[in-house]
Order: sequence, then structure tokens, then C-alpha cells
Amino acid sequence: MSAKISYSRHALDEDDVQAVVNVLRHSWLTQGPAVGEFEQAIANHVGAKYAVAVSSGTAALHIACLAAGISSGDRAITSANSFVASANCVRYAGGVPEFADIERDTLNLDPAGLRAQAATGPRVKAIIPVHFGGLPCNMAQIADVAASAGATVIEDAAHALGGRYPSGERVGSCAYSDMTVFSFHPVKSITSGEGGMVTTNRQDLYRRLLRLRGHGINKADDPYQHPHHAYQDGKFNRWYYEMQELGFNYRMTDIQAALGLSQFRKIDRFMARRSGLAARYREAFGDGASGIRVGQKNGLGASANHLFVIRIAFGAGARSRTAYMQRLFDRGYITQVHYIPIPLHPYYARLGYTLERLPETARYYNECLSIPLFVGLADSQQREFINAAVECLA
Ligand SMILES: *Cc1c(COP(=O)(O)O)cnc(C)c1O
Repeated sequence: MSAKISYSRHALDEDDVQAVVNVLRHSWLTQGPAVGEFEQAIANHVGAKYAVAVSSGTAALHIACLAAGISSGDRAITSANSFVASANCVRYAGGVPEFADIERDTLNLDPAGLRAQAATGPRVKAIIPVHFGGLPCNMAQIADVAASAGATVIEDAAHALGGRYPSGERVGSCAYSDMTVFSFHPVKSITSGEGGMVTTNRQDLYRRLLRLRGHGINKADDPYQHPHHAYQDGKFNRWYYEMQELGFNYRMTDIQAALGLSQFRKIDRFMARRSGLAARYREAFGDGASGIRVGQKNGLGASANHLFVIRIAFGAGARSRTAYMQRLFDRGYITQVHYIPIPLHPYYARLGYTLERLPETARYYNECLSIPLFVGLADSQQREFINAAVECLA
């Protein structure tokens, strides 16, 4: 029996393998020159001044929250329709995540609801918009809410490397934010195995991110806090370093960076392929006639097309989502639910979170399904899937 077709899969070529082998033969293993090159390549491409590579997207979110100054009890608002890491990062920093509802057509944070929520209660420290499925949020309006609230904006762009805002800038340029976070987990636009990155245009944040990535130890141009230890007779003690705050070992290895860089060189091809596949799904399901509707509206900037989400009015028994997914599975397809709303996870439920004020998120969760969308999905495979999706519903 042939392998199942999943909702997502990485695309590795022989040159990616070679890039990793080259590092193993000739270079550093942990953070070295390849990490710097990878950072520079991404920063140049997205149009940001600085980039800091780390060991995962989650690590990137964590240090971004700390750099934003989130500490004990601080409010930070994100989307409930996301992976748990979008809220966990706030908890790591001691803050209190809050969830605002999503828009029906984009499945992204609704700026109007966000504005109302940010305007009540104590000051909101950060807003963490998630570009769901790769579709950029309405960043102009979110930035406006953040400015009124005095909040730092951290874009969770784990889905959105390769996307563009309607105004033309690339996601990662931080045209509307203080920091943008990417993930290079295998299901994302490009992969480094595990890995993440923060981009920013603010030097103060950049320096803080560098320190937090490496144990809180000062970097080249950070002033020493104990100059009497750092210098002797006016000369720098070359063995000396200082841990200035509690940081982490969130380094990316050169092995990962070499893979990430090799993958990144193909980003335009990857994006073109994903966008072509998404267009064909829109053609197939756009009119909703089959009972299958398209989850996200088109034309709000350029989506990175990380996920393709359909919506179906599921029912009970044989008409349930579980039964539908099982029928698709039996035909060779692995679909998935993106996402179980964060407040419903036992950890958050125990803390008292519910979907009570998130009706659009709740409705979406009951209807959603992510279907196969990845670079290696052949046209013929997609056609067969479309037929199966319609047949399994009937
Ligand atoms: C994948 C993902 C993350 C976490 O990235 P990792 O690299 O897996 O740690 C965070 N947020 C969202 C929305 C994601 O999809």
C-alpha cells in the first residue's frame, strides 16, 4: 500500500542533504558562520535590519516576549485559533495571555474586537497577532490598536514566511510591528529540522535577543557591568565575559542553519507551488456547491499558503468530522484540525479560560479541516484528493 498523503510535508532535495554534509565536513557544529549567513539571508529578503536565529519558533516567541518586557501579571493578547506556543510564550515570561476573537473571512484576529478588549482594564503589554495559514493579519489596524494601547507588537509568523502585506512589504519586515517570529519546523514554509528566528528593526531589542539566546551573557558591544573585572591596567581581559541577566541556551546549530539556508534559496519556487495548489482548491470549492467551503478569503495581501482550510457543516454520527476524517484516511489521506482553540486545552481550561467570548473561534473550530497542501503534492494527487473529499462527504 502506498504512503498516506498528509496535510503537510517538508520538501527536501539532494542539495539540502549536501549542504548539511558540507557543514559536517568543513565547519562548526554549533552556532557558527552558517547561522550568521542564514540570519543575513532572511533579514535581507524580508527587509528587516536584524535577525536572531534560535533553536525553535517557540524559543523565538519566548525571548521576543522577554524582550518586549512582559513580566509577572502583564497582559498580552493573541488569537485562540493558533498553536499553543502563541500563548505559552506569555506564560513563560510570567504574563497573562488573553484571547480576542477571529474574523469570519480571514480567521485572523479581528482588529475591532482587539481594540475593545485592549481599551478595558490595565495596560496591555503586548499584542501577538498570528498570520493564520500564512495569510497576513490586518497589521495596519492592529498596529493602530497597539499604538493606542502602548503595546509592543510581536507577529507570530510561524506560518507566514514568504507572505506579503497588502501594502507590499514582506512579512518579517516589521513594517507594522516591533518583532516578527518565524518557525522552521518541518511543516512550515522552509525547514531547518527545528529552528526559529526573530526579526526586528530595533537595535535595543536586537541586543536583548542576542543576550537572551546565549545564557544572558553580554555580547561584543554590550557595555560591561563590572569593568573592574573586565579590564586590567586599561587592557581588556580576553578570558572575561559577563552574565548580565537570566538567559537561555537557545542557539541554533550550524547544521540546522545550513539546511535552513539551502531551503531558503528555494522560497520563491515553494511559494509559487503552494499558491498554485491553493488556487486550484479555490476553483474546486469556491462556490460551496459540494458542501465544502473555503476557509480564508483571498486577496488580502499575499498568503504564504501554509495551510489550506475548508469548512463543512458537520453533524452527528456518520456526518461528524471524525467520521469524515476516517473515510478520507481509509482513502489514503491524513487531514488535521487547525486548531483546537487554545482555551480548550486542559492546562488553560484549569486556569479558567473558555470560549465564551470567542463565538467566531468556536464556530470555526466545529467546521474546520486542513487538507493536503505542500510543495511535493502533484497535480494529479490534488485532483484525486478533491474528488475523494467530495465523495466522502456525500
Ligand atoms: C509551529 C508554530 C509555532 C512554534 O514553532 P516551533 O518551531 O514548532 O517551536 C508557534 N506558533 C505557531 C502559530 C506555529 O504554527
